[in-house]
Amino acid sequence: MIEEIKKELFDILACPTDKSDLVYTKDKKGLQCVKCKYVYPIKEGIPVLSPSELSKKL
Ligand SMILES: [Zn+2]
Repeated sequence: MIEEIKKELFDILACPTDKSDLVYTKDKKGLQCVKCKYVYPIKEGIPVLSPSELSKKL
């Protein structure tokens, strides 16, 4: 079963790379950035925002 993300959480979500909005993928199993088209997986209702670009800088 796929859990919907709470609206309050959805409002503060943004792509960590370019701060653009995220939208559900067609199967609602992930969130896709409207700008860079990167897809972030949703695990147990929680979006996993871990861009490769960010980890490179750390
Ligand atoms: Zn992005």
